Amino acid sequence: MPELPEVETVRQGLNQLTLGQEILGGDVLLARTIAHPLFVEDFLTGLKGKTLAQWHRRGKYLLAELDDLQRAGEIGQGGLGMGDWALKTHSSKLKTNPIGWLGVHLRMTGQLLWVDQDTPLQIHTRVRLFFAGNRELRFVDQRTFGQMWWVPPLSNPQEIITGLKLLGPEPFSAEFNLEYFVSKLERRQRPIKTALLDQSIVAGVGNIYADEALFKAGIRPETLCANLSRQQIERLHEAVIQVLQAAIAAGGTTFSNFLNVQGINGNYAGVAWVYNRAGQPCRVCSTPLERLKLAGRSSHFCPQCQE
Ligand SMILES: [Zn+2]
Repeated sequence: MPELPEVETVRQGLNQLTLGQEILGGDVLLARTIAHPLFVEDFLTGLKGKTLAQWHRRGKYLLAELDDLQRAGEIGQGGLGMGDWALKTHSSKLKTNPIGWLGVHLRMTGQLLWVDQDTPLQIHTRVRLFFAGNRELRFVDQRTFGQMWWVPPLSNPQEIITGLKLLGPEPFSAEFNLEYFVSKLERRQRPIKTALLDQSIVAGVGNIYADEALFKAGIRPETLCANLSRQQIERLHEAVIQVLQAAIAAGGTTFSNFLNVQGINGNYAGVAWVYNRAGQPCRVCSTPLERLKLAGRSSHFCPQCQE
């Protein structure tokens, strides 16, 4: 499943390739991929003629700020975008946009690909958006849990994409500070791994990077939050941020079927500390790594380095 670094990699690719491009039309091959509006025709009509002004990320959601050519001409290109919004301005709030938004969640297996329209359709192609120059933004999704939303003009994205309301702070934001993290973990009688996967505590961390952060912090995944020392929470807080940053720098992971918008795998799997490496030697102490199940998810850890 794509996690924050993979979604961020897709976002950066989309910002390099698609900005200022006008949506000329589209084709929805699987209606239930469109989570809003109710009718596919309204989704396509809403997007037609709009340009992609800037792609943002909130947790694992991708959000394209829409514009139209008339307004783009008035403001001028470059005046629209806010740069690496989610990383730099650290805002966890999305504003209403007079022209609307396009939302995407990749869920388990979604892939957002920037291709030529004559590229043969992948068997799991769900939605196609067409652009000038024979270009296409294609949503391919084997497991069909992926979703897309058109947020109409002046609507708040959180009212349409209701999952946004449930998200805790972005891990790179000022809101995700040590005091906040301590307040969410202290006295809680649940495993720390489960808490890291809880999107209301911190947005965007999934199974891979939770395991990696726990290794870096030297904490076993089944440890109850209430039993963590303040020092351990501090190490974990730093580790979460470092692990996510390292994975973004590596272009996301090669695990699962993650692809960036140009259809290329990431590089993180080759350098993973513990994830998916049960039975292999720890990169620090050479002890064979172990796996255990927590809340139905596999956790990978080093019995020597983590306590
Ligand atoms: Zn070890």
